[in-house]
Amino acid sequence: MKIADIALTQEKIKLKVPFVTALREVHFAEFIRIKVICDDGSFAYGEAPATKAITGETLSTITQSIQELRPLLSGQSLQEAFSTLHQASCGSSAKAAVDMALVQLQVIEQKSSLKEYFGIADVSPLQTDITISLGSVESMLREAKAAYRDGMTLLKVKFGSDIAHAITTTQQLTKELPKATLLIDANQAWSEEATLRYLTALDAKRNIALIEQPVGAKELAALKRITAKSSVPILADEALFSLEDAQEIVAMQAADMFNIKVMKCGGITKAMEILEYARSKNVKCMLGSMIEGPYSINMTLYLAFAYRDVISYIDLDSPLLYEALPREMDFLYEGATISFKAQ
Ligand SMILES: [Mg+2]
Repeated sequence: MKIADIALTQEKIKLKVPFVTALREVHFAEFIRIKVICDDGSFAYGEAPATKAITGETLSTITQSIQELRPLLSGQSLQEAFSTLHQASCGSSAKAAVDMALVQLQVIEQKSSLKEYFGIADVSPLQTDITISLGSVESMLREAKAAYRDGMTLLKVKFGSDIAHAITTTQQLTKELPKATLLIDANQAWSEEATLRYLTALDAKRNIALIEQPVGAKELAALKRITAKSSVPILADEALFSLEDAQEIVAMQAADMFNIKVMKCGGITKAMEILEYARSKNVKCMLGSMIEGPYSINMTLYLAFAYRDVISYIDLDSPLLYEALPREMDFLYEGATISFKAQ
C-alpha cells in the first residue's frame, strides 16, 4: 500500500456555549480535515485544530504544512511515510493529523482493527471530565452545578490570572459541590507566589484532585518548587509537548503528572511513546485534547481505552461541547460516560 494523495478541507462545528480559558475564547471547533488516499483506493481521515496560543499553528499554517508534506509522502509506503512525517519540520498538529490517518491505514493494510492495534481488552466505559469555562464566580458556579446535575462529576475548572477570583470560586465550588472532583487548570496564568497563595487558602484541599500548569511553560524551576510544596498533585500541560519534555520533567521532578495531547506531541504514535514512558516511570497522566473534530477525538479515545492503567483523567469533552453529537465516532457519549458503540 502506497500513499497516492492527501485531500484537505476546512471544517467548523458550532459550540453550544463559548469556551473560555486564560488563553483564548472559542465559539466554533474549527479544524483542518485531511483524507489520506492510497494507491489501492483505501483512505483514512485525520484532523488538526488551530490552537495558535498553544502549538503556534493556525488553520493556514496547518494547511501549508499538509501541502508541503503531500509531495514528500506521495508514493511512500506507510512505514516510510511515518518516518518522513516525523522527521519533517512542520508543526505538531499538522503532524498529528497525518499520523492518525497513517495509523488507520496501517490497520487497513494489516486487515486488523483499531481495537487490535491498540491491544484493547477492557472495553468497560470511561468517564470524561467537562470543562467549566472561565467567567464570573456566579457563572462558573451555575455552569458547574448544571453539569453536576447532568451527572458530570469530574469538573475541569479554568482560571485566569486573578488569583482572588480563583480562590473564591474554588471555595464556593468545594462548598456547594463537595462530591465533585475538581481539576484546576490555570493555563500558565499564575505566578509561583500566587500559586502558593492559592494552595494555602485552599488548605483543606478536599476535592481538588490536581492543579494543572499553574506557571508558564518555560518556568520549570518554579513548577518544581511548587510541586515540592504542594500536597495536591501538579500536572504539566503546556510544559510538555514531546517525550524529551516528559523525560526532563521526570528528571527534574518538576511535576507529578503529565497532560498528554495528540496535537502537542505530533500524533497517536508519539503519544503512545510518552504513555509507555509514563507507564515505565509510574507517572499518572491526563489524556487531554484541544477543541477538536470528531475523527481526532475518536483516535484519541482509543488511546484512553488502551492506556487506562496510566491515564487517571480523561479530558475529551469536545463532542459534549458541540451543538449536536457527532456520528463519525466509534464511541458513544452518554453524559460524561464514554463507551464503544455496539459493532
Ligand atoms: Mg491544560
